[in-house]
Amino acid sequence: MSRVLIIGACGQIGSELTYKLRDIHGNDNVIASDISFSNLDVVNSGNFEILDAKDYNAVKVCVEKYDIDTVYLMAAMLSATGEKYPMRAWDLNMNSLFHVLNLAKDGCIKKVFWPSSIAVFGPTTPTNETPQHTIMEPTTVYGITKQVGERWCEYYHKQYGVDVRSLRYPGIISWKTMPGGGTTDYAVEIYHKAITESQYKCFLSENTKLPMMFMDDAINATVNIMQAPSKNISIRSSYNLAAMSFTPAEITDSILKHIPEFTISYEPDFRQQIADSWPKSIDDSLARKDWKWEHTFDLDAMTDEMITQLQKKYSSSEKVS
Ligand code: NAD
Repeated sequence: MSRVLIIGACGQIGSELTYKLRDIHGNDNVIASDISFSNLDVVNSGNFEILDAKDYNAVKVCVEKYDIDTVYLMAAMLSATGEKYPMRAWDLNMNSLFHVLNLAKDGCIKKVFWPSSIAVFGPTTPTNETPQHTIMEPTTVYGITKQVGERWCEYYHKQYGVDVRSLRYPGIISWKTMPGGGTTDYAVEIYHKAITESQYKCFLSENTKLPMMFMDDAINATVNIMQAPSKNISIRSSYNLAAMSFTPAEITDSILKHIPEFTISYEPDFRQQIADSWPKSIDDSLARKDWKWEHTFDLDAMTDEMITQLQKKYSSSEKVS
């Protein structure tokens, strides 16, 4: 039985990964950790530790305390926040990765999951059906940290045999935990505002097409790549991963099928430039071939689920207050 540590477990993806891994491995075998108690649902769902991913000794002590063999490193500073604090983004995103890779290199843990992002691509990358291997000249600090991180993952695998696995997540959309400062956050906020105010002011322009994925698919992809036999993992930098691509105008049309009075306005800010540097769609055929990746949710299926779950959430919080 695997003993798992999730670092950054209170975040948008880490929280749902924690619940899923607790289901798979059993509550006692999954240790959630974060720098603060920012998500009480996660904190109260089982073992939880306050842990700074930048502190090598603290991570090592936690790994030894719980006899951890697998680490999911979900802590990072995301694209939009990273542009505000470039040095802090570099410090967190790179040092946390080195700490975990070095623990694996030294035999303290056996397996590592570390997420990359479509932010590794840049304005010179082919934008449609972006291939696995292509030009990568990211222009954000976040994208630079992910690209460099990918290189180090591959290096640690080749030089030291570290079993590290990685996915280039597209924008992830979910209803349980709010996103943490990325360029695709609009695609979560829009559902909340559609339900609570029937209107939304979008920080990207109406025809900005980006690759996106519903959380359930992202969690399944993460679990699947980690469960795949090592011989099936041909990419040790990070796999392209895709489900759907849409624009703010297209998500609006999907929402209008449920909330006909919904209106959207557009006021692009600094995040438009980031979005414009990213691909519109991703070729993930290698993930589909190597470890049989398949997505489930398209835009309308995701909209159904988001609206159903958020309506329940808001109506139960109204009853409480
Ligand atoms: P998030 O911002 O929602 O969560 C990150 C978590 O890390 C937060 O709970 C935060 O408190 C924690 N954290 C910050 N500093 C820490 C530290 N020093 N030590 C320990 N914990 C710390 O991020 P997310 O959206 O859940 O993203 C998880 C991973 O997936 C990141 O590597 C991110 O780059 C990647 N990713 C996310 C998306 C997306 O759309 N959400 C897309 C592509 C890649």
